Amino acid sequence: MSEILQISQLGNPGLRRQSQVVENIQDDRIQKLIDNLIATVKQANGVGIAAPQAAQCDRLFIVASRPNLRYPHAPQMEPTAMINPRIIASSTETAKDWEGCLSVPGIRGLVPRSRAIEIEYTSRDGKLYRQELTDFVARIFQHESDHLDGIIFLDRVESTQELMTEDEYQKQVVNLL
Ligand code: ZN
Repeated sequence: MSEILQISQLGNPGLRRQSQVVENIQDDRIQKLIDNLIATVKQANGVGIAAPQAAQCDRLFIVASRPNLRYPHAPQMEPTAMINPRIIASSTETAKDWEGCLSVPGIRGLVPRSRAIEIEYTSRDGKLYRQELTDFVARIFQHESDHLDGIIFLDRVESTQELMTEDEYQKQVVNLL
């Protein structure tokens, strides 16, 4: 049975640490953590969650893009655990879009990100994948990668004018899409 984990909130020093490379992917603790993170991100209507958000400093996160209440226009994909992820190349072309974070409830911010990235990660069964990601999924990957280095999306917002509450975001942005 998987367990819903408590999500660390902004201000928790655990969110600001550098995470460590996962040496043994088959370790029970890691496999259990993956199951629990998947259950937690689903329950919270997130599209991604990183280990440090559940007080574990392992370089792994879940990308779980799917349409939900917080992101009604997200593309559908199976929740995928990405272990020891790396960005190999990033497009110089960037785009700004609204992001939120399960560790920063109620706030959205406009964040510039590379539009396309070439990435590498190891799956939970130990296979190495190399992929090109674009747009929304590339944004999730960059947001979650930042968590592994102790960076929160608010650090990348260029102006406090580009912050909004979740309620305003739902009214002004989601309803217009
Ligand atoms: Zn986040």
